[in-house]
Amino acid sequence: LQVPDNPIVPIIYGDGIGKDVAPVAQKVLEKAAEATGRNIEWMRVFAGESAREKYDENLPDDTVDALREFRVSIKGPLTTPVGAGFRSLNVALRKKLDLYTNMRPTYYLDGVPSPVKNPEEMDMVNFRENTEDVYAGIEWEAGTDEVEQVREFVEDEMGYDSTIHDGPVGIGVKPITEFGTKRLVRKAINYAIENDRDSVTLVHKGNIMKFTEGAFRDWGYELAEEEFPEQTIDEDTLWEEYDGEAPEDKVVVKDRIADNMLQQLLTRTPNYDVLAMPNLNGDYLSDAAGAQIGGLGIAPGANIGDGRFLAEPVHGSAPKHAGKDKANPSAMILSGKIMLEHLGWEDAAQLVHDAVEQQISSKRVTYDLERQVEGGEKLAASEYADEICERIDELA
Ligand code: NAD
Repeated sequence: LQVPDNPIVPIIYGDGIGKDVAPVAQKVLEKAAEATGRNIEWMRVFAGESAREKYDENLPDDTVDALREFRVSIKGPLTTPVGAGFRSLNVALRKKLDLYTNMRPTYYLDGVPSPVKNPEEMDMVNFRENTEDVYAGIEWEAGTDEVEQVREFVEDEMGYDSTIHDGPVGIGVKPITEFGTKRLVRKAINYAIENDRDSVTLVHKGNIMKFTEGAFRDWGYELAEEEFPEQTIDEDTLWEEYDGEAPEDKVVVKDRIADNMLQQLLTRTPNYDVLAMPNLNGDYLSDAAGAQIGGLGIAPGANIGDGRFLAEPVHGSAPKHAGKDKANPSAMILSGKIMLEHLGWEDAAQLVHDAVEQQISSKRVTYDLERQVEGGEKLAASEYADEICERIDELA
């Protein structure tokens, strides 16, 4: 991505704890930019509650236009207003900007409390499809005739006995397209190549859902073969021709069934690197991976489309903790780190990473980690971020 040294970056603070974590994360990112001889020109734009106050709507055109025009942006969490007529403001935003990839790196930072024995083994990047699957929201309560039609279809066309019981029936559609799958897997493979990663694993339930999840797996392999024949190798060929030892310059493309993958995430963590997944598998798997390395207060993410990028932490607006200057800003800061990488500012991103890691190791942390770290000291979100800024100064 070609960006100027002083880009204009739209920022949405968001709702609830977003108003606590976003401004302090902004200070940290500014500090890292300055320390590496650059400048970020922020453009504050609005969505959610603050947009309702200012524009009387949830997602003003001005905001969407700014995110579209300036391409690289960052947001805090948004509360979904009750009875808004859509599932979530985030989903609306991702749709309007066609941000079809949700990318979540999960890596261990020294000192982070973890429920697993070897959390330092975790270093994965999850690529979750963001627009399709059961999350497309196509579902309804079926009428009696419709249920009959479905039963007939299952029995006559598919050759199974229908297992739909009598009484009210909810029906959902799980669209997975070749187009949607291939553009997601393309992003994952490109990322693996550019970042010197060993493998891309397609995670699916193709054993049960042949036309959707099975197709995801097949289209994934097909894309690797069609578009990256020199840079990738599939797992079968790896064993047949290379005895399981991948050549240095090849990304291994493999697949795992999702339930098995959830186990392997815990038991064979080092074998996995970049994961590419349909929406629902991606949701479960990236949360499970995130829990191994500190959970919601830490977990960063980004939504990526073609030529568009919107960083955002995994957590929501946690209304219970809002306005108290106590929520952990690390997830927002580390989402900003991904943004800096996307701008090509690797040195600034590394400063942010190192400063956050040092801060957590010092045990001077926010309430969520202080409870879990022996000898931890509790800081306000703003104090925590100020100390990270000081560390950036020292490290630079
Ligand atoms: P949540 O992530 O807001 O909070 C769940 C719990 O996790 C909190 O009560 C808190 O204990 C903890 N937590 C979350 N972030 C934390 C942080 N930075 N520091 C310390 N602790 C933290 O999830 P929820 O309660 O299910 O959702 C609340 C609202 O947020 C809903 O309206 C939901 O729609 C929205 N939401 C938005 C996004 C987004 O904008 N991307 C994502 C998830 C949820």
